[in-house]
Amino acid sequence: MFSSPIQAVLMDSNIRKYIDKIHNPWVSCTLNIWRKVVKEFKLEQDLALFKWYAYDSDFAPNKLDSRFKSWPAKGLSTYDSLIKDGNLISFDTLKQRHNLEKQDFFRYLQIRHYIKTTIGQMSNTNVELVTLFRQAYSGDVDTRLIFFWYNFFMNKLPHSTDYVKMLWEKEGGMCISREEWTQMWEWQWRSTSSKSWREFGWKTLIRFFITPCQKAHYDGNPPVCWRNCGYQGAHHTHIMWDCPVLRTYWKDIHGAIGGVCALANVLGQELCELERLCVSGRWEEARVLQQRLIEPNAAVTRKLGVPALKQAMEWFGFHGGSCRSPLQPLTEAESQQLRRDFSSNGWL
Ligand SMILES: [Zn+2]
Repeated sequence: MFSSPIQAVLMDSNIRKYIDKIHNPWVSCTLNIWRKVVKEFKLEQDLALFKWYAYDSDFAPNKLDSRFKSWPAKGLSTYDSLIKDGNLISFDTLKQRHNLEKQDFFRYLQIRHYIKTTIGQMSNTNVELVTLFRQAYSGDVDTRLIFFWYNFFMNKLPHSTDYVKMLWEKEGGMCISREEWTQMWEWQWRSTSSKSWREFGWKTLIRFFITPCQKAHYDGNPPVCWRNCGYQGAHHTHIMWDCPVLRTYWKDIHGAIGGVCALANVLGQELCELERLCVSGRWEEARVLQQRLIEPNAAVTRKLGVPALKQAMEWFGFHGGSCRSPLQPLTEAESQQLRRDFSSNGWL
């Protein structure tokens, strides 16, 4: 049978043992999740104040002395209930307020010693969380609990992919900037609506797949590329990128990406220049050029569409021709707008 109050179990370092004894699946499942949260977000130290000394499995005196168990009924259950503004409340004060007896004094000393030696100081990183628990114990529960937890978890973000990024950099002999790294992850999200392809993309980026190099560690076989290119030492970068078998594939993909641009009909040379700057890593110049191309590009696509593209081609000495029905030529106002988009960026 389960003998501790559930609040006492929440912070106990032996919570796992308690959970195993619970036969109610709802309670054990919830506690299990809580246990993982505490571990994952490293909350144990900060929440140690909310252990119940009568049941705390690390506090030895409670095993020999059942009188500790009568304290919760008097309003003293957690270590925190004996503390005010960071200091231990004096025994006299507690005695008066909570109806303790003289013989409880040495229990008070035992707890005091334990707080000083074991519980120690909280790290100050989870102050809001500690406040939340204090409020709960004083009966003042915030009604926006879900909101609190959501924000709390989002702010903590215990996972970092820096190590994975470092592995890619090391293997590929390259340097990935923080922006590029974030963008690579965003692309997995944006470039497809298929859940399985997204998952595949994420798994590739996070280096989920077992490569011949990794396999070689435990089966002793040479790490030969599984695409049969003959390369020995097939790590992630080779398998996903460098392998000669993949080269035509990536070339085709690049070709496809390079072809989708309406503005190239008007400012073809400038777009080629942009690509050249990017490929040679001259990012600052590329950025300046890109900034000047954004407005004209928007003008001949989503803003004013094909009629604008045709008009702009005429201005630049190419042959745009007249619009085919149902498209209509630009109005005077639209034409002026188009001219401004090109001239304000120095193209006309
Ligand atoms: Zn290969």
